[in-house]
Amino acid sequence: MGDMGPLCCIFDLILPERCVLCARPLLGCRAGSFPVCRYCCNTLHPLEGARCALCGTVLLSEREVCLDCRERTHRFTLHRSAFAYDERTAELLRAFKAEGTRSLGQLFGLALLQLYRQHCTGALLVPVPGHPAATRRRGWDQAHELCLSMSRLAGVEVNRALRRGRSRRQKELTFAERQTNLRGRIRVAANPHTLGCRSVALVDDVYTTGATLDACCEALQAAGVAEVFAFTVAMDL
Ligand SMILES: [Zn+2]
Ligand SMILES: [Zn+2]
Repeated sequence: MGDMGPLCCIFDLILPERCVLCARPLLGCRAGSFPVCRYCCNTLHPLEGARCALCGTVLLSEREVCLDCRERTHRFTLHRSAFAYDERTAELLRAFKAEGTRSLGQLFGLALLQLYRQHCTGALLVPVPGHPAATRRRGWDQAHELCLSMSRLAGVEVNRALRRGRSRRQKELTFAERQTNLRGRIRVAANPHTLGCRSVALVDDVYTTGATLDACCEALQAAGVAEVFAFTVAMDL
């Protein structure tokens, strides 16, 4: 492809790559190696305000832990999302997952790495396994891509320790149904000796009820993992 160089430059001038969010040409205002301009990147804000000490949701009362976490016990020590699930984040996630703009993993990876460093440096990164059919269609797994990006930035170790069997799509189910649907469908595929006694940081794209994370924790804890933290790009509540 070496002799395609000049031709690619010409295409770039005629049809310049555009920002995923505002569609302005990226020539000269690219924020990184992903297709988002500097202006839009500066408008992406982390979740702010008082947060639940466990699941990281925005708190409405003075309590330290949200109503949901007081009513049932999550299996993870702590979960944090990098961004609120607003229009912009939803658009970025759609471009990442549905359109396969893989380089957006670098933008998300940077934000996730900040959370990881704040809460659990040293934990092994484990991606929440995606649906096998979606992973086959896209050719890569979204959560694994996020872990790889964090690993490239900071040299953190990644272990693709979990596998997901076939199950009904989580989106269509209630919380109780989600738990039964998932139980036993997520299993540890790695050699338990590579995990045992270590702490793990689970990584996924979106947090909805925490049921998927709990199912992953159950499998990891049964394999001897002492403590599980969880980080996602956005929280969809
Ligand atoms: Zn833009
Ligand atoms: Zn909570």
